[in-house]
Amino acid sequence: MHNQPLPQPPCLLCHTHEENHNHLFFQCRYSQMVWQALLLKAQVHWPTIPWMEAWDWASTEYNSGVQTKMMGLLLGATIYCLWQERNRRFHDQHFGTPQKMIEDITNLIRDKLGTLRERDEMPESLRSCWNIQ
Ligand SMILES: [Zn+2]
Repeated sequence: MHNQPLPQPPCLLCHTHEENHNHLFFQCRYSQMVWQALLLKAQVHWPTIPWMEAWDWASTEYNSGVQTKMMGLLLGATIYCLWQERNRRFHDQHFGTPQKMIEDITNLIRDKLGTLRERDEMPESLRSCWNIQ
């Protein structure tokens, strides 16, 4: 009996690092490109923190209703899309670009924000970030 740990498969997004959730969702250069573009768009200065703490940070930093919702959408949509991309690569060898993902997430957030009940109290800055009329 060998007691060695199984080698971890490499990350499917960059093929360089070992795959784990923190790497896949936050540290990977693929994920970094997506986050950086989206955070720039949202005008959020995200500290480099482990992903388990990210939500806590976001809800303290953005405690006005609609901003918090936007951050929740951003966090949820990005993690969801990164995971989908990883699974598509795993099962179908289908490779999407970070640019395409950024576009998809932007559209998703714009659509969701546009249907919020708080739509009318949305600050102008938030509207213009996401191009909401
Ligand atoms: Zn990676």
